[in-house]
Amino acid sequence: MSKWIKKEAFAQFREKIKEDDSKKNEFVGRWETPDKGSVDKPIEYELRLIPDKKNNFYKKILYHMFKVDDKWVFSLCPKTYDMDNWCACCATSMKLYTGTEQDKNDAYAIKRKEKYVVNSYIVDDPRDSDKDDDKKAGKTVKLYEFPAKVESLIRSAMTDEKNGVGMGAFDPSEEGYNFILKVGATKADAKGRSWADYSLSSFARKSSALAETDDKIEKILDSAYNLDDYIKTLEKPEEDIIKALKSLGFFDLISTEYYKKRGVESSNEVTSKESQESRENQSEASNESFNESSHKTTQEQNTQQSSTELDEELLRELENL
Ligand SMILES: [Zn+2]
Repeated sequence: MSKWIKKEAFAQFREKIKEDDSKKNEFVGRWETPDKGSVDKPIEYELRLIPDKKNNFYKKILYHMFKVDDKWVFSLCPKTYDMDNWCACCATSMKLYTGTEQDKNDAYAIKRKEKYVVNSYIVDDPRDSDKDDDKKAGKTVKLYEFPAKVESLIRSAMTDEKNGVGMGAFDPSEEGYNFILKVGATKADAKGRSWADYSLSSFARKSSALAETDDKIEKILDSAYNLDDYIKTLEKPEEDIIKALKSLGFFDLISTEYYKKRGVESSNEVTSKESQESRENQSEASNESFNESSHKTTQEQNTQQSSTELDEELLRELENL
């Protein structure tokens, strides 16, 4: 045996790369974001939602996504696990919201966003017809990441006791229902932008079994991904996020808070405090002018409206990461 390499260290390294490999495989399991059709002609996909083996149905993912030097930075928000967790990005955007008009725009870019993830057996994906057999999504279980708009449709179908499908949303037996995802497009806005429109999606009218036999059903359920494990693969070291915030020049806003939360002594506490104070003064001044603006309400409304639409864009960007 070589005296140059430590056996233990190598074994540890090998475990680590094996783990990285299995994480990559999780990503292979993600369903390609469905393409959107047109205003008149939505594209139709047929899905069957299934629980994972830990009986997780679907899960909410909170995240941040913003650009640093033209590159997207994705950060899983620690509040995904518990709203009481401290998050550097959430803290930054809260500070920015009290600032100048430009700060508010930055806050908007960094703010927390949400999406959901579910295991879904893909009954039909029209894009398969152009794909090689090994690339087809149909007849396999995929992780479907979906926006809040789709979640609200699924949620109301599950909770509407009179007209909903209740447990049938996830029941693989003949009492369960496929989910017909229809992705149309909204009419173009003043700037010519159009967004995915999911409003025509619904559970199928007729119930049907996930597969012909119990054995086949079992096999499909068995191939579901563990949702908690999947969310874990989205985690990123906090240092990376801090680095990104530093290169945007925002770290000073939260440095005191950060060092306190993480129990680290700041090496340049005085400098960061000073710059924070000067920033706060700036914010106060700009707040006054902002309050004077009679357009405040309209501006706020605009921000509200485009928020979900922006999330759509971000979901798409995620595909390319
Ligand atoms: Zn956050």
